[in-house]
Amino acid sequence: MAKIISGKEVSAKVKNEVKEKTLELKNKGIEVGLAVVIVGDDPASRVYVNNKKKACEEVGFTSYEYALPAETTEAELLALVDKLNKDDKVNGILVQLPVPKHINETAVINAISPDKDVDAFHPVNVGKIMIGDYAFLPCTPAGVMELIDSTGVEIAGKSCVVIGRSNIVGKPMSMLLLHRSGTVTICHSKTKNLKEICANADILVAAVGRPNFVTGDMVKEGAVVIDVGINRLENGKLCGDVNYEEAEKKAAFITPVPGGVGPMTIAMLMKNTLTAAMIKNNLM
Ligand code: NDP
Repeated sequence: MAKIISGKEVSAKVKNEVKEKTLELKNKGIEVGLAVVIVGDDPASRVYVNNKKKACEEVGFTSYEYALPAETTEAELLALVDKLNKDDKVNGILVQLPVPKHINETAVINAISPDKDVDAFHPVNVGKIMIGDYAFLPCTPAGVMELIDSTGVEIAGKSCVVIGRSNIVGKPMSMLLLHRSGTVTICHSKTKNLKEICANADILVAAVGRPNFVTGDMVKEGAVVIDVGINRLENGKLCGDVNYEEAEKKAAFITPVPGGVGPMTIAMLMKNTLTAAMIKNNLM
């Protein structure tokens, strides 16, 4: 039976570290501020934004929320981003994705100052991740790295398989594992022999967006299995990309859903915002 990797515990540790540093900054007269922008009323986005605001309170940041109506034009949103870029009180800017279809997501991401891009989606930060010289790590993959490290399992030289190649999860995830000298295979919808590839993984990261996609036969005995997926089933329950009951019989370590990667993403966002504030104040 696998040991459960608790995202709740690891994220609490990360947030505590951020909280302590934030207090140190406060004592120097420095406030840390995160602007969270949400356009429209997508219920899932609303939940994410509320969780981020709550995390800001926990660690002692000031959060500035901008809830804009769904009809907001691209020009209006870009004008707000420009204002926030220039606002000294704001260290990090987060525009909750997805934005409504009439707004060009890439234009919005590109408009955020790379120095305040705490999601690490701006091409400048994406490029830095590729080189391995980064200030901000993309939140979800960075959270996964913390979870793997919490197991004590060495990454170097291991066979690491990432299922998914999105810009926000799969690709940066693969890069972070590569920087730590994992031997990385990236799988996607066109991959042949996916089952065999996964079944050879010492570290398996699933970021597919399909409930119970990873079955027991795809898990190597003693593997570390990280489930990034968040899927809402018809009965309203949350479910990951990994068939937990099957996988946990073979894995050595496994993340649950919920309570695994999800809380880490927010904790890493807090860490990035603190980093932005420290860099701005020449403390890093
Ligand atoms: P995307 O839909 O952008 O990417 C999914 C990836 O899975 C694609 O690369 C796709 O391949 C691949 N894929 C789809 N079907 C198959 C298949 N049958 N076989 C192999 N690969 C397949 O999703 P995201 O990366 O944005 O998110 C992935 C999951 O992680 C979602 O459930 C999302 O909700 C969750 N998530 C969780 C976060 C958290 O904080 N825990 C944060 C972000 C995301 P191809 O490129 O060929 O189409």
